[in-house]
Amino acid sequence: MKQPLEILKNFYGYNGFRGNQEAIINTVMAKQDTIVLMPTGGGKSVCYQIPAMVFDGFTLVISPLIALMKDQVDALNSNGIPAAFMNSTQSQSEQRYVSQAVIQGKIKLLYVAPERLFSGNSPLLDFLKQANLSLIAVDEAHCVSQWGHDFRPEYLKIGDLRKHFSNIPFIALTATADKLTRQDISDKLGFKSPKWFISSFDRENITYKVAPKQQSFDKLLEFLESHQKNSGIIYCLSRKQTEETAEKLQHAGLKALAYHAGLPREVRDQNQERFIKDEVKIMVATIAFGMGIDKSNVRFVVHMNMPQNIEGYYQETGRAGRDGLPSDALMFFSVGDSITLERMLEKADNPAYIKVMKGKLAKMRTYGQTNICRRKYLMNYFGEDHPDHCGNCDVCFGRDNQRDMTVPSQMLLSAVARLNEAFGLGYVILVLKGSKSNKIQDEHKSLSVFGIGQHQTEVYWKELGAQLIKAGYLAEAGNTFPTLKLTTLAWEKLKKKDKILLASEATFTTTKNISQ
Ligand code: ADP
Ligand code: ZN
Repeated sequence: MKQPLEILKNFYGYNGFRGNQEAIINTVMAKQDTIVLMPTGGGKSVCYQIPAMVFDGFTLVISPLIALMKDQVDALNSNGIPAAFMNSTQSQSEQRYVSQAVIQGKIKLLYVAPERLFSGNSPLLDFLKQANLSLIAVDEAHCVSQWGHDFRPEYLKIGDLRKHFSNIPFIALTATADKLTRQDISDKLGFKSPKWFISSFDRENITYKVAPKQQSFDKLLEFLESHQKNSGIIYCLSRKQTEETAEKLQHAGLKALAYHAGLPREVRDQNQERFIKDEVKIMVATIAFGMGIDKSNVRFVVHMNMPQNIEGYYQETGRAGRDGLPSDALMFFSVGDSITLERMLEKADNPAYIKVMKGKLAKMRTYGQTNICRRKYLMNYFGEDHPDHCGNCDVCFGRDNQRDMTVPSQMLLSAVARLNEAFGLGYVILVLKGSKSNKIQDEHKSLSVFGIGQHQTEVYWKELGAQLIKAGYLAEAGNTFPTLKLTTLAWEKLKKKDKILLASEATFTTTKNISQ
């Protein structure tokens, strides 16, 4: 029998397990029911895929993401792992073909949607009983809870499955669940005494920011300035708002697409594909977008409106920075939004549901209004302790009197470097602003940094230059003509793409309104 680590190396090409992965795999292989809470990007998939490879029989994976099943299965097959899916997009004969392959022991992982399992008189249940089933994995397990943000009634049927297959281990996985939802996962799935694995939910590389929702579109443009060439998702509340916002961004010269459940399937798939392939950097979407999308270089997630609850918010922001590099989560907040959401909730007909959801909404509102560290607030919401100060959210920046000036600083420092550290600040600024002055040497007009800072004023760049000198990123050298040089600290920061925080005493005035 192959060892889990060997499988990880041979089939996935990774050298070692991360976090709880190994312990989870061992528990599953000891045939114990297991519940895994791990943030997005934490590596949940191998927790059931590797046991699936070790067990004699096959593993049934229940997943709500029909649209992604084919991709997931293709990815497994291309790693040499025999997997298949069964869902309503297939013809009868295709489904028969798959079930034959499973019965013949040719398939290790079979993906199905929950509604598939229990349709009609459930031939699938009979089929499962005939086949050599070793493990059942329930992905996106929070969908079983009414108190979760994505309740799917079909998931409740999984509890029945538990009764039919009392000797087979189950593993339930989710990236988002508050305390109430956690308990529900165990109860509703009918787990007896499951082993829990709760990883830290902290995503250290994400900077959390909240901005008042006035002139939010102008603020959005300003924010996007600092994310040129980066991929990101902008969440809106309504379908109409996604289309309008995408259109306004296009008018402002930015490539953006809309995505919502009301668009024809082909358009949705095409837009998603273009985003994943980096052909279009900005996706303006309702929350219908993003579930299960494995795009590692999403650099920012913006919420134009306050979301309904922290679980949803955290899952959506968690789509940023899966590669571990610094990323931003910006939310526009207004009390008005929370009132609108409350009215929407009140239309539901279940008083218990309304009560719980209102409680969640109140916690979300507090997040927007709090003056405690946003990360601490989020972690505490998920029942995790956190120090008072993370140093990487707008509240902490404010307390330190610091501002995140990473992107403009990178521009200025790169310009100094591209000019071979042979010029003073005045000249560097002319280059950044793409000046037509005849002082600019011709060879500098073709530099990649030429004109990248044209949206900011000269005063802004002067202030920033002075701050970078003061903070030890730039040093002045030269006798007759002062020239700027990058310090070791600056090279380090550029190399590691680290954040650059500067004292906010300077105003960094932007006089030109970039939305015009
Ligand atoms: P989740 O489902 O928790 O969001 P995934 O299972 O999709 O996360 O894993 C996220 C990424 O991390 C994937 O690209 C996956 O291949 C990678 N990954 C998983 N386990 C490891 C590991 N032990 N070492 C390195 N990368 C890993
Ligand atoms: Zn903080």
